[in-house]
Amino acid sequence: MAFEQTLLDEDFSNIGQKLYAFAELMYPVCRSITGQGVRDTLEMVREKIPLTINQVPTGTQVFDWEVPREWNIKDAYIKNSKGEKVVDFKNNNLHIVSYSTPIDVTMTLSELKKHLHTIEKQPDCIPYRTSYYSESWGFCLSYNQFKTLPEDDYQVFIDSSLEEGVLNYGEYYIAGESKEEILFYTHICHPSLCNDNLSGISTVTYLAKILTEQDLHFSYRFIFAPGTIGAISWLSLNEQVLPNIKHGLIVALVGDSGKLNYKRNRNLSSEIDRVVCKALEDGNKEFEILEFSPYGYDERQFCSPGINLDVGRLTRTPNNSYPEYHTSADNLDFIKAEKLAESLQAILQIVNILENNKIYINVSPQCEPQLGKRGLYDKTGGKQGVEQNAFAMLWILNQSDGEHSLLDIAIRSGLRFETISNASKSLINCGLLKLVNKA
Ligand code: ZN
Repeated sequence: MAFEQTLLDEDFSNIGQKLYAFAELMYPVCRSITGQGVRDTLEMVREKIPLTINQVPTGTQVFDWEVPREWNIKDAYIKNSKGEKVVDFKNNNLHIVSYSTPIDVTMTLSELKKHLHTIEKQPDCIPYRTSYYSESWGFCLSYNQFKTLPEDDYQVFIDSSLEEGVLNYGEYYIAGESKEEILFYTHICHPSLCNDNLSGISTVTYLAKILTEQDLHFSYRFIFAPGTIGAISWLSLNEQVLPNIKHGLIVALVGDSGKLNYKRNRNLSSEIDRVVCKALEDGNKEFEILEFSPYGYDERQFCSPGINLDVGRLTRTPNNSYPEYHTSADNLDFIKAEKLAESLQAILQIVNILENNKIYINVSPQCEPQLGKRGLYDKTGGKQGVEQNAFAMLWILNQSDGEHSLLDIAIRSGLRFETISNASKSLINCGLLKLVNKA
């Protein structure tokens, strides 16, 4: 048994609804790089897949970084002199700058303004801001609200804590036939933002759930961790695992209506880049391939020179290139069930190629073997063209000299990987192909 290609032909609209509903469930949680919100989110994932939730204590040295103190928050608001809450964390957790230190003071508008963040160009949106590595506090609000704040004495109240604690991440491993593994990584540190991070968490969770039920050649590892410090912590604590990682993908921002974007990894001739490009091409939807750059999400860590794994990144519209990015407009209206489903389907197509890509040798290579007598070929001569399946068989027989994989043949012939893979099965069944290697 192997990864079932028929999985790709199923109707994904139902699963799109599930992906969306899971994002909706996680939406209210106030996540950050540490704290209860991260644990609550990981618990939600654990209800769907058997996730291990790990913890790394504050102060742990992880390569050039140190695990920070744990941040938790119960309440935060700004009250005017009449006692009315003008900004309330309980209405939207983006109102508080992540990692804000506790405070309870009264101040003038001009003092307060030094701690307020807005986006003038998007006057209705609340920005998302963090202050992980420098102690400070602040509030975020829409520019429209900001400009109507009158001169007054404002009570600023933040009931937060910044203490020794832990950084959490979740991990799930599916053992396949081979020790070689494929890594999927998604970040989990953003509060109520949908495309940027809930779409990734939801998609990777359901991917893991689907792959659990498959017979797999490769082993699969799924990591749900805070951005940057989470990836650095995981890499630093799991160096013994790294030699097993054959390919990997960062999955994030996969729920918006833009086309899929694949960002190549650091190594110019890597297999994962070829696999993803072919999968997206076969998907028959618009997509774009981006060159590698040492900026973006956690591909920065996986593709650093001392780690140097073949880890690419799959998003829809990339970070920073849509106006809703890192604002309150990245909400439940911004992501779409059918786009989440389409992203998951593309990832399954990638897995399909990884799982079913093999190298064969044609055992009858002197001239073409006679396909007709084996029932593989339409015997009526003179017809225009050759049907796709026969065409695929001819390509496979021609290229299977022990050097070229099915993926190589699919790329060179311009045929879909699935067509090549199915045709190879007929040739194996009649003894014309012999397996050389799993690519
Ligand atoms: Zn982000």
